[in-house]
Amino acid sequence: MTSPSFYIKTFGCQQNLADSQRIASYYKARGYKLSKTMKTASEVVINTCMIRQSAEDRVTGLVKNIAKSASWRKKNKPKIVVSGCMVGMALRDETGKYLKALQKRMPEVDEFLPLEEVGFDYPALRQEVSHAWVPISNGCNNFCTFCVVPFTRGREVSRPFKDITEEISNLAQKGCYEVTLLGQNVNSYGTDLVKNSKGYKLPNTKTVKPVMVKHLGKYRIPTLFPYLLEEVCKIKGIKTVKFISSNPWDFSDQLISVIAKNPKIDRNLHIAVQSGDDEVLKRMNRWYTQYEYINLIKKINAKIYGAQISTDIIVGFPGETEEQFQNTVKLAKEVNFAYAYVSKYSDRPITAAHKAFTDDVSHSEKERRWRILNKLINHKSTPRTAVH
Ligand code: SF4
Repeated sequence: MTSPSFYIKTFGCQQNLADSQRIASYYKARGYKLSKTMKTASEVVINTCMIRQSAEDRVTGLVKNIAKSASWRKKNKPKIVVSGCMVGMALRDETGKYLKALQKRMPEVDEFLPLEEVGFDYPALRQEVSHAWVPISNGCNNFCTFCVVPFTRGREVSRPFKDITEEISNLAQKGCYEVTLLGQNVNSYGTDLVKNSKGYKLPNTKTVKPVMVKHLGKYRIPTLFPYLLEEVCKIKGIKTVKFISSNPWDFSDQLISVIAKNPKIDRNLHIAVQSGDDEVLKRMNRWYTQYEYINLIKKINAKIYGAQISTDIIVGFPGETEEQFQNTVKLAKEVNFAYAYVSKYSDRPITAAHKAFTDDVSHSEKERRWRILNKLINHKSTPRTAVH
């Protein structure tokens, strides 16, 4: 009897790519072989993204194609397993409506596999040796009003500090010299690890004390990310450390100084701005102003030699006027981004923006604004449309 085989198709961001590596390990542990093609696999796992409607539509299209192609080839349909963000959303929707809608839309799917079933315990099955994507946290607590991540992945959960440094040490021993640390809000790493008001004890016995966090209006443990970066840089064999995706609110002076002191840390810094207009930022529930963002970038440029800033921008957020869009254009000119992932606002179910606002900027207007920003920022490279 031939052993069962699996093939994974991944949609979306690097975090999904890293999740797929853990899903692969989960299958291997159950005796499955990795199939080189989708056609030869007995099980096809689709790791989904739902950041935009178009990402969901691509998943539905693929499911239908797999089923159709099996019937044309007069072969048994492979078992179709759907995982990732769409399943995460179904899991967290207590009404059960989203799961029912998924089952109705894709009756060909045999199993919906929540990532929680896979967990962080399965080591990633990586094909590449020299570079590794290393998730350090999952989920997000920020609830930007346009974003589905807190609903698809749940609240932020940080991996234990020691687990991460041990995993990277093992990778380095096997020849890996470049790592990219991953998290939806990577620079807020560790705030959930603190269990009491005295602070957090790091593995090297140093204790990190709570600080006042302006946008929360309360004392909270500062992010442990700068400490983690320092430790990862000390690991023998690691030559380059990258990280995505950062947000402005946890890009502290301490983090800037750790990067400035450590030549191993990549100078390409991705810091999402989303809009250059204060009113739009407020409605997006992002806790900084245009002035604060520009000041942060000035500080980074003054302290980190060779820093290159990239970003994410959404155009056509509900109610965004021409004047508000022009504020984003002004910010882009002032910051001089190396590149940007510019995306057209896509109304997503469950989000606060979907409930509170009307998606009232026309498609053609979003397209016009998208072109203007792409031309301004990405004129040296191909237009970029992905977002974390
Ligand atoms: S945009 Fe980023 S920071 Fe905001 S809720 Fe989504 S994942 Fe979190």
